[in-house]
Amino acid sequence: MDNYQIVPIGNIESPYKQKFAIPRQPRLVPQAKARLIFTKDFNREEFVRGIDEFSHLWLLFRFHETADKGYSALVRPPRLGGNEKKGVFATRATFRPNGIGMSAVKLESIEYKNGQLALQLSGIDLLDGTPIIDIKPYLPYSDAMTDASAGFADTRPETQMTVAFSEQADSYISQQQQYPELRAFITNVLKQDPRPAYKKQKQQTQFYGMTLYDFNIRWQVDENHNQVIEISKQ
Ligand code: SAM
Repeated sequence: MDNYQIVPIGNIESPYKQKFAIPRQPRLVPQAKARLIFTKDFNREEFVRGIDEFSHLWLLFRFHETADKGYSALVRPPRLGGNEKKGVFATRATFRPNGIGMSAVKLESIEYKNGQLALQLSGIDLLDGTPIIDIKPYLPYSDAMTDASAGFADTRPETQMTVAFSEQADSYISQQQQYPELRAFITNVLKQDPRPAYKKQKQQTQFYGMTLYDFNIRWQVDENHNQVIEISKQ
């Protein structure tokens, strides 16, 4: 069997600082903005010449946080409540041979500042620091298949979750002028209901925390309602 060496062409600078609460696919949270920063060998304008003609890009990346944790043939997709097993190649699970992921994201702009080439992206589902191994333009005429069916993942995941903010959280957000979409960002992340499947069946109030950018966000969940309790800086 041949072995291949793959080198990252860039790394992602993302507001998602831990795996928990990252949406399960790209574009579910359009306010999730990121920068793709090219590594030294690819830090040249030539590599991206013409890319601004495309609104969306495919990113191929390494699930670097979990890649060394192995894989198994069968996985439990969260879509099925964690109760049913499917073959890893019938899912988009992170624990997979070679640990490679792919996400179609929106290209916002190209940036070249102080000798550093970067792409501004949105709608991402990637952890901070994720190594990018390739970029390809999204081609609607070929990639968008209107007659496609997708079995257990046929529809966009919708939840009934509502989101409200405490007085502290509300006034904290209104002071963050450099993050004008912070409220919508937090709201849409929580609407995805990031709780593990087995917790969703529990009746009692549950408390959670996550970090977006450098904000620590604490919230509680009662049935279908998320209440953001407190936001603070790290
Ligand atoms: N869109 C990609 C795909 O289909 O290959 C990723 C799908 S995967 C189900 C999405 C999850 O990957 C996120 O919810 C997050 O928890 C996890 N994730 C994102 N970046 C990661 C990384 N660098 N290493 C490990 N897990 C990551």
